[in-house]
Parts: sequence; structure tokens; C-alpha cells
Amino acid sequence: MKHAAPKDAKALQVLLVDDNPIQLSLLHHLFRRHGHTTLEAKNGAEALILLATESPDVVVSDCVMPLLDGYQLCRLLKDDRATRHLPVLLLTAQGAGLARFWAKTCGADRFLVKGRDLDHVVEVAEALVRQADRPRGAHAVPRLAQENFGVDAIQRRLAQALEQRLVETALRDSIARLYTAEHDTMRLIRGFVEILQELVLPGALLVAYLGEDGTWCHGVHGSSASEEDRRALEAAVRQQVLPDSRQDCHWHPVPDDDERRRSLRDPILRVLPAITPGHPAVSALGFLTERRAAEDYERLFEIGAEELGRLLSLEDSRLRLYRQAVRDPLTGLYNRRHILDMLELELEQCGRFGQDLSLMLIDLDHFKAVNDRFGHAAGDQVLTVMAQRMAFGLRKVDQLGRIGGEEFLAYGPQTDLEGARALADRLREQVAAEAIPGLPAGDRVTLSIGLAAWDGPEDTVEKMLSRADRALYRAKAEGRNRVIG
Ligand code: GH3
Ligand code: MG
Ligand code: MG
Repeated sequence: MKHAAPKDAKALQVLLVDDNPIQLSLLHHLFRRHGHTTLEAKNGAEALILLATESPDVVVSDCVMPLLDGYQLCRLLKDDRATRHLPVLLLTAQGAGLARFWAKTCGADRFLVKGRDLDHVVEVAEALVRQADRPRGAHAVPRLAQENFGVDAIQRRLAQALEQRLVETALRDSIARLYTAEHDTMRLIRGFVEILQELVLPGALLVAYLGEDGTWCHGVHGSSASEEDRRALEAAVRQQVLPDSRQDCHWHPVPDDDERRRSLRDPILRVLPAITPGHPAVSALGFLTERRAAEDYERLFEIGAEELGRLLSLEDSRLRLYRQAVRDPLTGLYNRRHILDMLELELEQCGRFGQDLSLMLIDLDHFKAVNDRFGHAAGDQVLTVMAQRMAFGLRKVDQLGRIGGEEFLAYGPQTDLEGARALADRLREQVAAEAIPGLPAGDRVTLSIGLAAWDGPEDTVEKMLSRADRALYRAKAEGRNRVIG
């Protein structure tokens, strides 16, 4: 049944689907009154038949109907690339919570409650068409309507659509699970790549991430992805995430089975941004695979990129929180608790392997005077500068933390007292060599340092700290700006 209405520029063609003739006629008149034309079908199957030849702008469908209901119709349309963008508005019965849930899960763009919301149905349908990112007038014939159309075909397609949904859900689920199973960024990315890699082989898959913990670029490739292919993929992904970075990409070959050991016939290269809006972490997913695989698995790659973005922004937040938990906010050095925890672990290693370790307790001299003369804010500034100088002056293997107001702790593995003394003296000279920005040019802030060396398996963090503290006290007493120990 087809009704015509005067067409104006904004007139829509609306496909109405309802098994109740009264309801159908009511909808028809509502849309007609606003100058739209309608196509009408008594159930989902009839709607599909109409869609083989007609190209409506929007579908307005009842839910419960014989043969093919509104949810099934919606699922079939949304599962099909040709009709995915055709807006679907479902009309659910009043008070049916489950109906609304299904309307959402089958991909309906909107649902309205019959009776209650029907006044808005035209308005909502018009809004859906305006929002749809769909080329107007493009005729998209649903896959089903191109096939030998019958109950068997409908059932087969429905089963496929459900299967596809299941695969998508399983993919989301396995990616989301990584976050609870893995506890560092590298393992998360590796786990993610392992989940998706089967889809691209014998091509290649690459993940790049720029976050709190630095930059990662990690990929896998089958034997068919040449060195040249991989460079091209790297360049494309880099473009998306880290245009200025020199960071190397780490590639791992994945052994191909016999069936796969062939060259890619019609390869294409795709990059999908994996970005969570409002989150500073950036990442991207790039792959090189057969054109057919890229098309068949398009939705899975999209889901992969979406979940990757989510995963990495969670990881980024975790690292931020971790950083807050272990760092001193003023200087950025490790805080007291963390440096002492680390030292504790380090001493265990010394016990196990019989290695040397020395620590320094460092206190700024006459620091109270800095505050008194220039104010607390200037004092903070001096603390920050001194912290940077100390961090810079120590070796890479040394660890440094702020354990009190103007007290710091540093320790170095495989360092005996002699080595620590040389290191501390050099540090003491270095930090006082230059003027401090904001203080009078001739002013210097000096350090007093007390040392302690690990004294064998009986020694503890507490004992070492108390020896270092006594040494520091002596350094102060003997005139400051010196190392004792
Ligand atoms: P000494 O050479 O004996 O170590 O003298 P001192 O003045 O450095 O030692 P004292 O322990 O008497 O004073 C330490 C001062 O450090 C007191 C306190 O106001 C200041 N201080 C501690 N924490 C901070 C901070 O976070 N910011 C600032 N601006 N000052 C701090
Ligand atoms: Mg002091
Ligand atoms: Mg002090």
C-alpha cells in the first residue's frame, strides 16, 4: 500500500511498519499532516521486501509483529552495511522495560512509547533524519532483499546477525578483561595485539600510544608483510599519534601456518584513531591486510580501536594515580614512603646477592633563613631547584627522594662507603656552584650529608638511617657544607 502526499523540499518518505491497521492508519495521517509520504508494511518481512525497491528516509516500526518483529527488523538493518545508517524509530508498548532494553540492544536510533509519546513521533523522525550521517537519496538495498528472499533466508540472516553481535561482544569483553589481568602498559598492549592479530595475518597490526608512561609502538606481522610494508604502516600510524617522535617501533614476527604463507593479494593499509574524548592519552591502531578482510572485519576493527582507546585511557589514569601516590608534589621526587619502600626492596637484593649499597641523608644548610629572608614561596622555589640539581648530579642507578621538609635521601646500589663519599662530595660541590634564580647572585645554598653503607644481612633500613642521621648531625656540628660517613 502506497500513499502520496504533496512533496516539498523537506518532505520525507517514511516507512511505517505495524501489524495493527488502525495504528498504521493513525501514523499515516500523522505523517501526512506534516507533508511527508509514507510506505506501509504489516510486518518486518514486508518492510524488507519494500526496501528492495524503495528508499525511505526513516523507518518507524512497531515491535511485536508476526513473521519478523521490529527488533529483528532493526537488527537486520543495523547489521547490514547497506542499511546501517537508515534511522530506525521503534514504538514500544507502555511500561515494558524489557522492550526498551531490547530496542537499545538491537541498535534502534530511538524508541517511543505508544500512546504516550505518539504526539512527538513526526518531530522525532524528522530529527533522526537530520542527524543521520547518511547520503540522502542513496538507495541502499538490504543484503537480504538481494538474496533469494524467504523465511529460510530471513532466519539465516538473523542467525548471522546474532552471531556477529556475539563475536563483537566477546571481542569487547576480552579486551576489557585485559585491564584486570595485566598491570603494565606493555603487557596490556601485547595482550590487545594478541587478541586482534588473527584478523590481519598474514598482514600486520600496529599499536601506538603516547601516554603518561611515555611512548609505545608495538606491532606484529606475518611473513607476508615486508620490511617496506611495515615502514609504511609505521609512518601512517605515527602520523596519527606521534608525528615528532623518534620512538622506534618494536615488531614481532608471528609464525604463519601453511595456509597463510602466501603474499597479500590486494593489501590495504588502515589507521584508526583510538582516542577517548576528553582524555589526553592518544593512541592509534593500524593494520595492513587483505582488502576483503578489512571489509569483512570492519566493525571488529572499529570496536578494537574503541576498546583500545578506553583501555589506554584507563591505563593512563592508573599511571597518573600511581605517580601521585609515589611522588612528592613540590619537587616531583619520590616521596618518603616510596623511597623507603624501594630501599627496603633494594636491601633484600643486597642480602640475596651480597652486593654493596650506600645511602646519603642530605639536609639543606640554614634553610630556615631562606624562608625568613625571602618568604615561603621563594623557599619552595629553592627546594625545587635544589631537588633538580641533586637529581641531575647523581648517577642513573641512584634513587633520590624527599623524606622531609628540606631533607632528602639518596641511595646507590653497588656502592661502598668510599664510592659514596666521592659521589656525595661531588654532589655537594655541584649544587652550590651556581646561583639560585630568585636569590641574590652571591647567595648559595649548601648541603650537609651523612652517609651509611650496608653492613651485611643483619643491617636494616632503620639502622642505616640512624647511622646516617648521626653522621649528618656531625656534619652540621662541624660547620655544615660537608660530607661525613
Ligand atoms: P640546618 O642547617 O641546621 O639544617 O638549618 P635549617 O634552617 O635548614 O634547619 P631547620 O630544621 O631549623 O629548618 C628547616 C626549615 O625548612 C624550617 C621550615 O620552615 C623549612 N621548610 C620545611 N619544609 C618546607 C617547605 O616545604 N617549603 C619551605 N619553603 N620551607 C620548608
Ligand atoms: Mg636544614
Ligand atoms: Mg632539617
